[in-house]
Amino acid sequence: MTDAALARIEEARASGVRFIQLQFTDIIGSVKAVTIPIHQLAGSVEHGTWFDGSSIEGFTRIAESDQYLVPDMSTFAEIPWQRGSGPRGTARVICDVFTPNGEPFVGDPRHVLRRQVERARRLGYVVHTGPELEFFLFRRDADGAIAPLPHDEAGYFDFSTDLAQEIRQDMVDALEAFGIRVEAAHHEVAQGQHEIDFEYADALRTADNAVTFKFALKAIAQQHGLYATFMPKPIHGINGSGMHTHQSLWSIEHERNAFADPNNPYGLSDVARAYMAGILTHARGMIAVLAPLVNSYKRLVPGYEAPTYLTWGRTNRSALIRVPKVSPGKSVEGTRIEVRCPDPSSNTYLAFAAMIAAGLDGVERGLPLGEPVEESLFEMTPERIAEKGIHELPGTLGEAIDELERDPVIREALGEHVLSHYLDAKRAEWDAYRTQVTQWELDRYLEAF
Ligand code: GLU
Ligand code: MG
Repeated sequence: MTDAALARIEEARASGVRFIQLQFTDIIGSVKAVTIPIHQLAGSVEHGTWFDGSSIEGFTRIAESDQYLVPDMSTFAEIPWQRGSGPRGTARVICDVFTPNGEPFVGDPRHVLRRQVERARRLGYVVHTGPELEFFLFRRDADGAIAPLPHDEAGYFDFSTDLAQEIRQDMVDALEAFGIRVEAAHHEVAQGQHEIDFEYADALRTADNAVTFKFALKAIAQQHGLYATFMPKPIHGINGSGMHTHQSLWSIEHERNAFADPNNPYGLSDVARAYMAGILTHARGMIAVLAPLVNSYKRLVPGYEAPTYLTWGRTNRSALIRVPKVSPGKSVEGTRIEVRCPDPSSNTYLAFAAMIAAGLDGVERGLPLGEPVEESLFEMTPERIAEKGIHELPGTLGEAIDELERDPVIREALGEHVLSHYLDAKRAEWDAYRTQVTQWELDRYLEAF
């Protein structure tokens, strides 16, 4: 164990931390935890902590259930709402999962992402990502049904004096206590909708941060008697919640942003353009990972600033990839692309791994990028769109699952273990949904036919 890790443990013990949550995620992205007393932590870092993986979604079968966790001490943080001074002082640390013979477990989503990060490194790049997670804050009414917060009439960037502003500040404080540096917090377009953005950094770090983000925001909302949800489209007729993911490659050899080329009209290098071509080529194949719920496809419809077409552009919010403008005078190091189709219900590790695999496939094969589309596609007729050769995202989870099965690059990125568990879980979810008879159908058909 490093001296820094040892010092961190000592510091936590001195500040009264008594318990450690060893955290990891299952393939769906739910946070799982095993709690140990702090005196076990040094041993855990050295030798791991055994747990039974058979109870975790997408992990092992009963016969091969034992696995162990190894804490990644660079993620160690006290849980701000369970601080050290009280009897329950608790810290959390994110772990990697190993099999009994000491191999990284292929079903661990963090390992799936590590594999793509390593692949990028072999090509000479560090992958940088910045996810923007949108969410809704609801309260539960007397019958347990969800309702927007009272007095929340605000829209995008509106200065809202409601309770939500206070809660957002508590959320920012909690995130910063976890070591996540927040850039901005604001009200989003829809009633009850918010966004908090945190700093752009390497892909593994930001994926860890996104997991912590969701867990922290839910806890803070709960303290206020509210409910924070990352469900992609909780309310019909208004915007849903996306997780737009900014990305770029940093060249290790040249020590600069490999996406930047000031001589290109969009400021994009050949590497960036090939990466974007990879994203567009595999968008249909990876959308089941990026937008994983039945409900995700109710967000990905025209008219709500979520993408439906496989295009790119600068100002166009209906495009799948947007190229944000780098502020004049700012260095080209800020050059990046924003992939707009993911939503925050995805497993961030798997979503990042899929996007990196798609982008790197474009880079490795030197895929050509089509022309940008700057007109709003939502105002074009379907014939005109077809004439331009523009394709669409799948319209349902069922279609998305079929596309995932057909895409060898995304299959390979997930690995056979994750892929087969993922397909089984998603097929079951789709079947359960498509056989329901909904209120909408009853209202529409019962008396008419
Ligand atoms: N909420 C929109 C979405 O579903 C995006 C709004 C924005 O551009 O921030 O992706
Ligand atoms: Mg937003």
